[in-house]
Amino acid sequence: MGVTRESFPLFRCPKCEQTGWIDEDQFNGRVSIVCAYCDYHETVNWAAEEEGKR
Ligand SMILES: [Zn+2]
Repeated sequence: MGVTRESFPLFRCPKCEQTGWIDEDQFNGRVSIVCAYCDYHETVNWAAEEEGKR
């Protein structure tokens, strides 16, 4: 769920699991992601999230 370097710019909503597109600012947590299908709305630095998983 969410987005990884590999999946970017494809984003999968953690809440409704619909897929959408995000830009680099959203990937780096500078701009929030708003899901087009549900009320999911979050600002996450996905680049840093991915680093943390390693
Ligand atoms: Zn959603």
